[in-house]
Amino acid sequence: MAKLTFYGATEGVTGSAYLLETNQATILLECGLLQGSREEVKANEEPFPFNIGKLDAVVLSHAHLDHTGRLPKLVAEGYNGPVYMTNPTSELLEIMHKDAAFLLQRDAEWENKRLRRAGKKEIEPLYTIEDVEAALALCEGLAYGRRQRVAEGIEVCYRDAGHILGSAIVELFITEAGTEKKLVFSGDLGNSCAALLRDPEVVETADVLLLESTYGDRDHRPMDETLEEFEAIIAEASKNGGNILIPSFAVGRTQEVIFHLGQLYQQGKLRHQVVYLDSPMAIATTEVYHRYQNVFNSEDVAALHKGKSSSLHTFLPVLRYSRSTEESMALNMIAEGAIIIAGSGMCTGGRIRHHLKHNLWRRNAHVIIVGFQARGTPGRALVDGAKTFRIAGDEIAVNATIHTLGGFSAHASQSQLIAWVKNFSKSRPRLFLIHGEPEAKDALRGRLSEEGWSADIPHLGESITF
Ligand code: ZN
Repeated sequence: MAKLTFYGATEGVTGSAYLLETNQATILLECGLLQGSREEVKANEEPFPFNIGKLDAVVLSHAHLDHTGRLPKLVAEGYNGPVYMTNPTSELLEIMHKDAAFLLQRDAEWENKRLRRAGKKEIEPLYTIEDVEAALALCEGLAYGRRQRVAEGIEVCYRDAGHILGSAIVELFITEAGTEKKLVFSGDLGNSCAALLRDPEVVETADVLLLESTYGDRDHRPMDETLEEFEAIIAEASKNGGNILIPSFAVGRTQEVIFHLGQLYQQGKLRHQVVYLDSPMAIATTEVYHRYQNVFNSEDVAALHKGKSSSLHTFLPVLRYSRSTEESMALNMIAEGAIIIAGSGMCTGGRIRHHLKHNLWRRNAHVIIVGFQARGTPGRALVDGAKTFRIAGDEIAVNATIHTLGGFSAHASQSQLIAWVKNFSKSRPRLFLIHGEPEAKDALRGRLSEEGWSADIPHLGESITF
C-alpha cells in the first residue's frame, strides 16, 4: 500500500507539501512556502514534520514559492537527493529562489539592527543564498509528456498545466508488488482564457486525484469583459493624467499583462503612456518566457510575430525596464502617464509598496489588481476597501480607484475545474480537494456533488492509503 500524507495547503492556498511513502521509496511532492499572515510566515521556521533522511526524491509541479519555497530550507537541513521539475521550471526556480533569499537576508538584517538596539538576540534568515545555490545544484529538469523514473518503483510524467511557464500536472505511477497505482496531482491549473500559455492538458485516469481549488467557489469574469475594463481604465488614466499601478507576480501574470498591453499598443490604444516593468525578477522572467515560446499557444505566438515584432519587448515598444533602485526611485517623481508593473503581487513587500505610497493618496491614480489576494495580505485589504494603507510607519489615504480584474486569473475557475475533473469520468479516482480557502473547497465540493462526484477535504497531517 502507498501512503500519502497531507503536510500543507490543506487549510489555505500556500505551503503545499505531500509525502508519498511506499514500501520501496519516500518522495516529497512539493515543498511550498507558507505565505500570508504573520503567523503563517512564522510557521515556515518550524521543523519539517517528516524524516528528511528518508526522502529519496522531491518532485515539484511549478516554480511558484507556495509550491517550492521551502526547498532551500530542506536542503539546508540535510536533504541532498534529486529534485525533479520541468526544464522551464528549473530556470524560473533559480530566479525566484535567489530573489527570495535576497529578501529574507535583507529583512533579517533590518530586524537584527532593531534587535541589537534593544539588546535582544539576533535572528537567522529562513535560508541564505548559499542554501539556494546548494538546492539549485540538486535540480533536474525533465521533459513534458514522458514517463521518467524518480525513485524505486515510482515514475513521474509531467503534463502541461497552463498556469505559468513550465507548470505541470504531475502524474505519479507507483508500482508495488507488481501492481501499478496512479496518483495525479493537478498542481495549479491554468485559466484556459489566459494569454500566452496553452490550456491545461486532459488527463483521464487516476486512482487518487488531488485537485487544487483556489477558485473553487467562483467563475472568472469573461476575458472579453476584463479586457474591455482594462482598456477603459487605461483610457481614463490617459485622459485624467493619473498613474496606473499593477501589483503583479513577476512570473506569469506580468508577461500576460505585457502581452495585453502590447495588443492595445498594436491597436493604437496606448499612445500617451509609458509602461515601466519595475522588477529585476520580472525582467529576468520575461527573458525566460521569450526563450520558451515553443510552449505558448499558437494563436498568441502568431500575434507576437506579426509585423516586425518577435518578442514581448518589441510587441510593446513603450515598455521600459527599471532594474536598479535608482531607476525605481525615479518613478516616484512621475505624477502622470506611467503604467507601473511591480511586485509583490499581494503587496506584501517589494517595490510596489513604494509606488503605492506615492500614488494611493492621489484621486486620479488607479490600482489594478490582476491576481488572487490571499487573506491577511495588504492586497486583500485594498480589494476589501481599506481606507488607509500603512507603509514604513506612514499612513497613506486610499484615494486612488482600486479595480479588481478577475478575468486575468492564472487559475482555473470553478467551471473549468469541474470540466477538468469530468475527464476522469471512466476511472473515477478518489478525489481530494486541496489548495483552497475553506469556503472555496466547500463550494467546489457542493458543485461536484451535484455532478455526481464525491470529494474529501483532508486535514493537515491526515494520511490516506491506496
Ligand atoms: Zn501557482
